[in-house]
Amino acid sequence: MPSDNAAVMNSSEQWDRVCTKFLREFGQQAYTNWLEQVGFNGINNDTVSLVAPTRFVRDWIKSHYAPRLKDYFNADNPNIQNVAIYLPDGANSAIQAQQPQETVMTPAITVEKKSETSFEGSPLDERYTFESFVVGKSNELAYAAAKRITEAEEVAFNPLFLHGGVGLGKTHLMHAIAWEVIKNQPSKKVVYVSAEKFMFEFIAALRFKDTHAFKQKFRNVDLLMIDDVQFIANKDSTQEEFFHTFNTLIDNRCQVIITADRSPTDLEGIQDRIISRLGWGLVADIHPTDYELRLGILQSKADAASRKKSIANPNGTSEKLVIPIEVLEFLAGKITSNVRELEGALNRVIAYATLVGRHITMDMTREVLQDLIRANNRQVTIDEIQRKVAEYYNIRLAEMLSDRRARNIVRPRQIAMYLSKEMTKNSLPEIGRRFGGRDHTTVMHGIRKVEELMLDDHQIEEDVMRLKRLFEA
Ligand code: ADP
Ligand code: MG
Repeated sequence: MPSDNAAVMNSSEQWDRVCTKFLREFGQQAYTNWLEQVGFNGINNDTVSLVAPTRFVRDWIKSHYAPRLKDYFNADNPNIQNVAIYLPDGANSAIQAQQPQETVMTPAITVEKKSETSFEGSPLDERYTFESFVVGKSNELAYAAAKRITEAEEVAFNPLFLHGGVGLGKTHLMHAIAWEVIKNQPSKKVVYVSAEKFMFEFIAALRFKDTHAFKQKFRNVDLLMIDDVQFIANKDSTQEEFFHTFNTLIDNRCQVIITADRSPTDLEGIQDRIISRLGWGLVADIHPTDYELRLGILQSKADAASRKKSIANPNGTSEKLVIPIEVLEFLAGKITSNVRELEGALNRVIAYATLVGRHITMDMTREVLQDLIRANNRQVTIDEIQRKVAEYYNIRLAEMLSDRRARNIVRPRQIAMYLSKEMTKNSLPEIGRRFGGRDHTTVMHGIRKVEELMLDDHQIEEDVMRLKRLFEA
């Protein structure tokens, strides 16, 4: 747990050293195939915890490299007795569904010792704290509500329901709450699980006729957090159990926090009575990030990286890693999908720079992120083009798609066809179909007409340019 920053840094440094030793002993290929796939989840007492993306990777590392990993750790830290490799929540769910006795928390190498803290559930990511969470307009309500829960003596709102799209910080906030409560109110019992894990444990409990222990675990807590609750949509018996757990806790004035990828009322396949109770407390949504927040997040990640990483010079000296602000601005402007992808982009640039020992520049950034940047360039649709062009020329959308041949309708229609060809990947027949079922030759004729007009009608040329810019914004 991040109560002691020095210890946390120290343990991730130990991990860095383990990786270096592995690379030296087993080579780049083995490193890329195996160890690089693995996440380091911290050291708890005498146990290192790693997360492997798949059962296969986990088993391979377990059978081929586990003793060496322990040796490497022992070189820095003689206390380490076990190296436990977990699967992330949700990995190989099909397999787990058939074998619920082997749920995600089962360590591959050692049987996990009962931890001494008041925490139970899925492992917490030590990077997900309030300190590392950057607040902006889009997430300030969610952040404030999360903070409030860790500070309040009394339960302020119950449940807290956080929702928002993928990669916008819901899980980060939940872990931050858990860390904070574990640190400041150690007597409180905290449970954090994904809804998926909740379900697998429930299935296992049913199968082994041990629902009593299951109920004890989830109903006997001060703070229960269930992540990604949309997962239990259409899973009726799990919903039933969830509902009873939820009601018991709320009735006992224990705090419940739920996240989902959409609002309670938009959840489909979840019983109405549950939906209505989910909305009883505080519902806080996290909106997509804006440019300022993205830049803020990048700056904080870049600062952290500069403190830890350096560039090795050929002569054996090393220099601080510097990430130019223009690179951060470029990323904040280009990678708008979600924070996870934004972080991933920055990490790739940093990894490249430290690996090849070169300073980060704009050129390098463009080169390293080519594919990502292309994917983030917005895809314009025919619908959008039709709507915008109709709006621009002040005609109705229905007129654009109609058979009318009045000049003031024909021209915008042709321009919209031209832009559809230029800016989307649709074929001429497809474009024809979308323009009121016209033939592809009509579309071709329209496009040629616009090309001709652009050559000698300055106004048309300017209109087309302006429309294009509208879509590229
Ligand atoms: P979600 O659970 O909403 O899908 P996560 O909590 O897993 O998203 O966040 C994805 C990644 O983005 C994580 O690495 C997280 O630390 C990071 N992240 C998201 N929002 C922020 C923020 N406001 N400040 C710092 N990091 C953030
Ligand atoms: Mg999440």
